[in-house]
Amino acid sequence: MARHLGSIPARARAFVVLALRVLERSSPRGFSRASLERRRALLRRMERSRVPLRRDLLLLLKTLASLGYGRAPEVQAALGVEVRCELGGAPAGAIDGDSHPGGGRETPTTAAGGLDRHALRPVADGHEECDVVIVGSGAGGAAVARVLAERGLEVVVLEEGEYHDASDYSTDPLVALRSLYRDGGLTVCEGRPPIPVPVGRCVGGTTVINSGTCFRTPPDVLRGWRDELGIEWATDLDAEFEALERDLQVRPVDPATAGRNAALCRAGAEAIGASNGAIARNAGAVTCCGACPTGCTLDAKQAMHVSELPRAVAAGARVRAGVRVERVLVEGGRACGVSCSADADLDSASVGGTGRSRPYEVRARAVVVAAGALATPALLLRQGLADSSGQLGRQLRIHPACWVGARFDEEVRGWDGVMQSWYVDEWRDRGLFLEATFTPLAFGAHWLPGVAEDWMRRIEDFGRIGVIGVHLSDHGSSGRVRAAGRRHARASYRLSAADAETISYGIARAADIHFAAGAREVFPQIGGLGPIAPGEQADKVEHARIGASALRLEAFHPMGSARMGADRSTSVVAATGEAHDLPGLYVADASVLPSSLGVNPMLTIMACARRIGAGLAERLT
Ligand SMILES: Cc1cc2nc3c(=O)[nH]c(=O)nc-3n(C[C@H](O)[C@H](O)[C@H](O)COP(=O)(O)OP(=O)(O)OC[C@H]3O[C@@H](n4cnc5c(N)ncnc54)[C@H](O)[C@@H]3O)c2cc1C
Repeated sequence: MARHLGSIPARARAFVVLALRVLERSSPRGFSRASLERRRALLRRMERSRVPLRRDLLLLLKTLASLGYGRAPEVQAALGVEVRCELGGAPAGAIDGDSHPGGGRETPTTAAGGLDRHALRPVADGHEECDVVIVGSGAGGAAVARVLAERGLEVVVLEEGEYHDASDYSTDPLVALRSLYRDGGLTVCEGRPPIPVPVGRCVGGTTVINSGTCFRTPPDVLRGWRDELGIEWATDLDAEFEALERDLQVRPVDPATAGRNAALCRAGAEAIGASNGAIARNAGAVTCCGACPTGCTLDAKQAMHVSELPRAVAAGARVRAGVRVERVLVEGGRACGVSCSADADLDSASVGGTGRSRPYEVRARAVVVAAGALATPALLLRQGLADSSGQLGRQLRIHPACWVGARFDEEVRGWDGVMQSWYVDEWRDRGLFLEATFTPLAFGAHWLPGVAEDWMRRIEDFGRIGVIGVHLSDHGSSGRVRAAGRRHARASYRLSAADAETISYGIARAADIHFAAGAREVFPQIGGLGPIAPGEQADKVEHARIGASALRLEAFHPMGSARMGADRSTSVVAATGEAHDLPGLYVADASVLPSSLGVNPMLTIMACARRIGAGLAERLT
């Protein structure tokens, strides 16, 4: 854990150190020197405290303890927890016409043979030229790279993170956080409450660590983009969605193998008459899928490094890992390339991340920034580019989400089955979408109530926990991204009272579902409120006027920080993806989405990126 904390950015580390100092001073002779009994009493007092900051501090401590404790093989063995991925018997249909000799169990496939690690190394002389240089290799960057390369354009994709795949993912959460995540996984939107917003930093971006859920954008959202924001093509994305669903092997999870967490969510939703269904995922015929946050152990999940990037490379694109773009080059009023720092150790067996760097430059006819909704605005703000509207970095939306767990008498063993498996869309008109998502022990134990022995008992019961994630399509709340120093982004987020109320409503509905499925108690993630019993959700949660700062949230879908639109005074890029202010500079990632979606965003990001890429290809050929 100490090594992990040593690897996170200074600002996040300083915050953790400060928190530990505050804890240490909570006892006259120091917390760490106090007796066990005294330490337990102090932790209990923090849990019951009326001061939100003290409860936030406790949650941080529990998060660190969960990571350290939940990763220990002996703990996992004692609880019977297994993190694994398995494929089913029915062939899922290979991509690119591959067949699976031998039939029977499907083997995972990567597009066009996957990526060649050695070809990902930055070139020795540190200079490249191409038609389009793309910053970032996640959902947006990979999708746009493929479109451009298949239309015959010379493309270079630059990715700051390293390359990893099923041959070398670590199932140790701390190693995975260091190798696959930005800021070692400790990216946080500052505010009351502070909201963790993890994002990926590796070849394939956040798609490598995401849950593989694929939803098309709701038609009413797209109509709003067309009618209110002048994005004419927004309602015309069916062809993009169909192509993506085919290429990414998207199919609904099979209820027979989705696991007990899915079955309980479904049973509870049906018992209360709430609309629900199987989640469609980009993992073919996978039947057990528990390792999403640390990289799919089979690479069955069609993350970008095993799908769109190999396809782009097969069409001639070059992908470089370990290259961090520092500046967009501008000449004659046009974006014409990027200057970067690249991993200096070309002989390294792993690609990227060796620490030593050297200058790198790519010259191009157009620049596409697809660094994600936090890094994209930070990169451009640092240079003062594309911000005549004053909107760059503003309008950040995140789909704030709440982990609502419940204890059942029966064994749930949420790790047996598909991690994110079942949805409930009954309250979509309020902006709520609920998804049965079983978080692995190391990433989820801190949400369990209690401290000291009480918390340990809860952890021992981990196999009887069911989980529903409550996500909100945020509208009244707003966030902002700023550049922090030479390398980092700093995000802040203010959850509005109305959105806090809607989340509380969603927590109460998740509790309805859990109780209808037989749960004994539900853990509502509201500071100062312990587990609730059946029937208590109306008074203690729904009608309790819970303030924003009492909610314990996380978020996985940052977007909107360089929004697209026809009006240059309210948006950053046009419907073409090109910056209103700077010809040749395009944005094609989650940043351009001009409003919350109300569903998981990957497919929308990719469909929009394809549109932006197709338009750019037309302009350049
Ligand atoms: C745990 C988790 C689970 C999720 N589950 C789902 C899900 O099931 N379904 C879904 O639809 N969505 C899910 N998401 C969200 C989804 O994965 C993201 O919305 C999507 O990947 C964002 O795409 P993007 O292209 O905007 O950015 P990213 O995919 O984050 O890619 C951006 C890339 O740019 C790189 N980069 C940044 N700055 C630079 C620079 N200066 N130079 C070079 N490279 C740079 C980054 O390292 C990164 O690799 C999940 C997210 C998380 C964190």
